[in-house]
Amino acid sequence: MLGTQFEATDARRMFPCWDEPSFRARFQLTAVVPENFLAVSNMPVERESKVDGGKEVRFAMTPSMASYLNVFVAGELDLIEGKSGDTQIRVIATRNKAEMGRYALQATAQILQYYNDYFGVAYPLPKLDQIATPGGFGGAMENWGGITYYESVLLFDPKTSSDATRQRIYEVVAHEMAHQWFGDLVTMAWWDNLWLNEGFASWMGSKCTAHFNPQWEVWLQKDMPRDPTRRVGIPKETAMEGDALSTTHPIQQKISNEAEANSAFDDITYKKGQSFIRMLESFLGEDVFREGIRQYIAQHKYSNSTTADLWSALSNSSGKPVAEIAAGWTEQPGFPVVTVARKDGGKVALKQERFTIHYPNAPALQWKIPLTYSIVGKPAASLLMTDTTAELSDVPVERALKLNVQGAGNYRVQYDEASWQLLLGELAKLSVPDRVNLLSDSWAFVQANRAPLFTYFELIKKLPATAELAERQQIINAFDYINRLVIGSEQRASFQNYARSILRPSFDQLGWEPRSNEPPRSATLRVDLINVLGDFNDQEIITGCRQRFQKFLADPASLAPDLRPAVFNVVSHHADEATWMKLHELGRKTTSMEEKQNYYDALTRATDPKLAKRALQIALTGELPTSRALYMVSSVARYSEHPDIAWQFAKAHMKELLAKADALGVNRYAPSLFLFFSDPIRIEELRAYAKGNLPPGSAASTDSAPDR
Ligand SMILES: [Zn+2]
Repeated sequence: MLGTQFEATDARRMFPCWDEPSFRARFQLTAVVPENFLAVSNMPVERESKVDGGKEVRFAMTPSMASYLNVFVAGELDLIEGKSGDTQIRVIATRNKAEMGRYALQATAQILQYYNDYFGVAYPLPKLDQIATPGGFGGAMENWGGITYYESVLLFDPKTSSDATRQRIYEVVAHEMAHQWFGDLVTMAWWDNLWLNEGFASWMGSKCTAHFNPQWEVWLQKDMPRDPTRRVGIPKETAMEGDALSTTHPIQQKISNEAEANSAFDDITYKKGQSFIRMLESFLGEDVFREGIRQYIAQHKYSNSTTADLWSALSNSSGKPVAEIAAGWTEQPGFPVVTVARKDGGKVALKQERFTIHYPNAPALQWKIPLTYSIVGKPAASLLMTDTTAELSDVPVERALKLNVQGAGNYRVQYDEASWQLLLGELAKLSVPDRVNLLSDSWAFVQANRAPLFTYFELIKKLPATAELAERQQIINAFDYINRLVIGSEQRASFQNYARSILRPSFDQLGWEPRSNEPPRSATLRVDLINVLGDFNDQEIITGCRQRFQKFLADPASLAPDLRPAVFNVVSHHADEATWMKLHELGRKTTSMEEKQNYYDALTRATDPKLAKRALQIALTGELPTSRALYMVSSVARYSEHPDIAWQFAKAHMKELLAKADALGVNRYAPSLFLFFSDPIRIEELRAYAKGNLPPGSAASTDSAPDR
């Protein structure tokens, strides 16, 4: 098969065109393909005729659109189809895999109805194809009417796929479909507005996913950093981490050429954009916000627009100065921390300043902050903080006060001792999102040197004894970070001992086996805990995984799909050669991309240096699609506990490895391997290496690596 991927500037490699987003045109494609090929493009087939050596397929003419949204896929493909309203919907995959698109087809039908209503303009094309490709790229692309996906973010096999996969598919499909309006029907005029295109689609996709699947706690998951070696998920905390460093940039940035357009697709673009939109919606109100979006789409359909157009539509619908609020969040880098100090007479003094990590003498900045707050137990209130300072009154001295209600705002809050103690005393009365917000903020203050680690540990100690997924995930992420910092240190055993004492009780509440009526978050947490307790050398967990793996080898059905990735990871982390070889063999044999990924991910976790080296070699073979092969090295750097072995290998094979990377990957690849060192001497090593060996485009990643 073959397939295209044009964004940002590769349409010009297939046909002559004005290859910039504001030059809209109507396209009509004709292709000659072998007889047994299915050919797919943005529009339905208009005519098909036999020609020498195959068939000629002519597609209907597209409406006015941007060049980068064209698509052409052809090959020995199968499909399943259905209807949603008047729109024909199909899932297309390589031979014998189309039936695994059933879940995505149902999701597509549901999401299409929701967006037809939300945007106030019906989906404008006669058909929508969801196309699964088994390689080539790692994510998904919103080509108008013919969205392409990496296979494992579209195909779901009820027998072997995990609930995490189901959730990822729904979110990615919802994100790409949001672009069919916001991005395709209305297109940004230039790449400097990419943050809005992506930020909006991420926010809209999450909102739609949360609407139909409340059990997944989508927004809470969004707040958590995910595994950086997998480029999925759109968490707020990772964006805030990057945005606090000296290497951050405004989400609205000047893009003068195509190389810059490619490097604009970073965490800050996607995640801070989404975070700002969410904050804005919660400040303006859901209905008012949707009304503004409807006006915007109606005014600019089949045309191009800028952020200013969106702010003006939202100002119209809300009567609030949206452009003024937005400027601070989109045109300047960073974000604020609000400090809270109790005063006499029920008054509380608020002060904002820029929040930074490892960035002395950062230029001072100011924001218009859509603040929310509540006296614990009472309804939330809001305040637009337009100055450096503000004051709340009538806050009873004995009552706890929580700012940034539900953690929906893109700012941090640091409390004075009196306010903090009151909050610690009322933790059980706070919602889970509020407690997660306190955990995230206090961990960030540790990273920023604004508070001792002890404050964070004290907060953990006072949490209610329930195993809440999002709380535990925040803790798991922080502990994982600390655990890597102390590799090779004497403190490691005692740290792991402490970490187990905090996390093991949650696992004991959940047990090994999925229960039939448990909420999905319990399944997710069980898996996360198995992974991390395995890393922290919990002997019972390791033994339990080994036993389950042996049973699985004899009878695959004995191990629930949800548990498989974690069991494989832990077994491999502590594997001998024979076990590792077995995992490798299973990975080589399977034809499911999801299963294959599970096995190969596990292979990178082996701590035995001999096995780590073997895992690295796989990156140079054709066993995995190129985009995935590359991440074998990052994954070994992170999980094998031997970042040095991974770096030596990468250095020796840099040319072959970078040949597998896309434009963006080339700039980030080498610096990303340094994220897992904790010795400052490595900073100089990276700088020296970058100077002699890396393209100028990797400067930003090189500079930010040591801080992360
Ligand atoms: Zn997108």
